[in-house]
Amino acid sequence: MTVHIHPSVDNGVKKGSGAFAGGTLVCKCKDKPVKVGIKGDVAHNHACGCTKCWKPEGATFSVVAVVPRENVTVFENGDKLQIVDTSATIQRYACKGCGTHMYGRIENKGHPFYGLDFIHPELFQEAGSAAPAFAAFVSSVIESGVAPSEMSGIRSRLKELGLEPYDCLSPALMDAIATHTAKSRPKAA
Ligand SMILES: [Zn+2]
Ligand SMILES: [Zn+2]
Repeated sequence: MTVHIHPSVDNGVKKGSGAFAGGTLVCKCKDKPVKVGIKGDVAHNHACGCTKCWKPEGATFSVVAVVPRENVTVFENGDKLQIVDTSATIQRYACKGCGTHMYGRIENKGHPFYGLDFIHPELFQEAGSAAPAFAAFVSSVIESGVAPSEMSGIRSRLKELGLEPYDCLSPALMDAIATHTAKSRPKAA
């Protein structure tokens, strides 16, 4: 049985060029697509199994990365964007035409990831952005309807692809969150 993770990694993870200067994310609309410009390369690119991230048709995981928010500019047809859930921590801007999430932004200045926007590198018209390096929230795919019995096959496939599976974020990102929490805690008298 073939395990499908995401179309951009199912045939092997494509390495980034290491010198990606940025590019343009394009939604799936044939007519008047939304175009969002990104300066520079992406960071912390990963497969994500959570139920909130946008995934293309048939994908079990999303592929999502971060970029500094000041590196994100809506180039064309921004009037088609709307926030999916205004009560969510990450305000995900999706195209009203095709449903594709173009970028997600955190407005809470106290959040550990404030200042970073979440994007889906598969939407770049250009090749060469940094490759996904791990898989986050793997167990959460069960919430999207994956049978628990399929999980060992999914985890094996992720490992085979070099995408170490985690049921939260990667250790580096969990450490970053804990560091932020420790720093923002008032010192004991
Ligand atoms: Zn669209
Ligand atoms: Zn996610």
